Amino acid sequence: MKIQVVKNVLDANDRIAQENRALFDAKGIYVINLMSAPGAGKTTLVEKTILALKDDYRIAVIEGDIQDTYDADRVAALGIPAVQINTGGGCHLDGNMIREALSGLDLDAIDLLIVENVGNLVCPAEFKVGENAKVMLLSTPEGADKPAKYPLMFQESTVLLINKIDLMPYVDFDRDKALRDARAINQDLTIFEVSCRTGDGLGQWFAWLRGRIEAHKRP
Ligand code: MG
Ligand code: ZN
Repeated sequence: MKIQVVKNVLDANDRIAQENRALFDAKGIYVINLMSAPGAGKTTLVEKTILALKDDYRIAVIEGDIQDTYDADRVAALGIPAVQINTGGGCHLDGNMIREALSGLDLDAIDLLIVENVGNLVCPAEFKVGENAKVMLLSTPEGADKPAKYPLMFQESTVLLINKIDLMPYVDFDRDKALRDARAINQDLTIFEVSCRTGDGLGQWFAWLRGRIEAHKRP
């Protein structure tokens, strides 16, 4: 019985996420759902991505956090429309939260919508929000055991960014194991090794994202 209840919740969310996705498609908006553990560097990646792409594309951000507007303030400081969702203890974003946040954005003036999910390696992967791609960060201090311990997020993601490679000499991160385990879970995973702090490797990520936005734009 309990399993049935959970399934119904996910089915209901999938329907709302599909409606969001149809709206985004109609407006030519490419949407990424950015996920990771707390402190892996999501907001810094968002900032660097905005700085690299904002002259060419219109970007907006939805920030999901349990409380406070710290991350949305960082994005707004770059002159980018940002909506903060405070989940009030909730540990993930869902389709309905995104639908409600859209009233704060001009959907006719967005090419790329970045949804920064709540920092959590577990349930954000279970709830679609209407995204084109799930993108996850794994930072080297978290350890190479995360793909094996939290397989769903690696399975659901289109892109894995291994972040904080500048810290590799100081932390015991088994790079080969992380890559091997992530690829064993998801053969199609596109993997970029980056440092959001130094900018190392980010060019590949920007190029990937530009390609997706271009392919998705309305003529
Ligand atoms: Mg953040
Ligand atoms: Zn949750």
